Amino acid sequence: MNTVINVKNVSKNYRSTKAVIGLEFSVGTSECFGLLGPNGAGKTTMMKMLYGINTRNSGNIDIYGFDPAKDELKIKFISGIVPQDNNLDVELTVMQNLLVYSRFYGIRKIDAIKRIEYLLDFMELSEKEKSQIRELSGGMQRRLVIARSLINNPRVLFLDEPTTGLDPQVRHLIWNKLRTLKKEGVSIMLTTHYMEEAFQLCDRLIMMNKGVKVLEGSPDELISSHIEKYVLEIFEPDKAVDIKTDGSIRTEVTNNIVYLFSNDVNTLDTIIKSLKPGEFYMRQSNLEDVFLKTTGRNLNE
Ligand code: ADP
Repeated sequence: MNTVINVKNVSKNYRSTKAVIGLEFSVGTSECFGLLGPNGAGKTTMMKMLYGINTRNSGNIDIYGFDPAKDELKIKFISGIVPQDNNLDVELTVMQNLLVYSRFYGIRKIDAIKRIEYLLDFMELSEKEKSQIRELSGGMQRRLVIARSLINNPRVLFLDEPTTGLDPQVRHLIWNKLRTLKKEGVSIMLTTHYMEEAFQLCDRLIMMNKGVKVLEGSPDELISSHIEKYVLEIFEPDKAVDIKTDGSIRTEVTNNIVYLFSNDVNTLDTIIKSLKPGEFYMRQSNLEDVFLKTTGRNLNE
């Protein structure tokens, strides 16, 4: 796998705020790489430095041999950008929005129309071609922005919180489309605070907090090496008081919920026997548990 994005020791300050501190990572061809973290972690700032909107204070960035601080336009030509805000032109129709965008890349109108029809079909928006933007639901607008980001057949796609606020159906549709793009060889940089999204899409990711990298790895690696396999959540803390835990259980208490972590499902099963339905939830551990354990606070705070 070739490295297509290389970030070395990158930092960015906004006056007194250190938004990104000494960040390092690399992304390969056809790889989906995630930046995860709570609001204010520095994800968007890092993304904007990659596609040249923000300038960094120090460090190096290389994207297909180009530096966004010097070659912003060259990077624009090989990449697609899905910013956090849809920024569609509400005065124009769906087709007109995409046509305007295609002109930026110097695509001939006849070729642009073909490409747009293909992309609208790909994002399942063909019947909306003549619609005004304000007639589209939030999910349709998001799909349109993704279609727009693909107009120049990009090699790298930057997605800043692509599915925030969308319903599960649209979210799953978008995930499927992104998987297809990955198979076609597109490298994807993704920011999200949805753990499930990261788990579904990312080959590798970094967890960030307050501008720094806290952990790096594949979702599976992070879960298997940083957290016990199972967790029993007990919603009534006083019910947990009498539970005798041995060395195989690690206990955390957050927001009045007791979390019992263990690699031994039988031990947790035994505890469940003393609880009533509705008082507990038993599940496999996930990325959010890893984050909580590492930073000691909830991702969405
Ligand atoms: P995230 O995308 O993870 O929510 P951001 O990159 O948006 O985080 O923000 C990182 C930090 O930088 C936060 O403390 C935020 O308040 C600050 N910040 C972001 N953009 C600006 C800006 N334009 N001016 C000043 N501070 C900013």
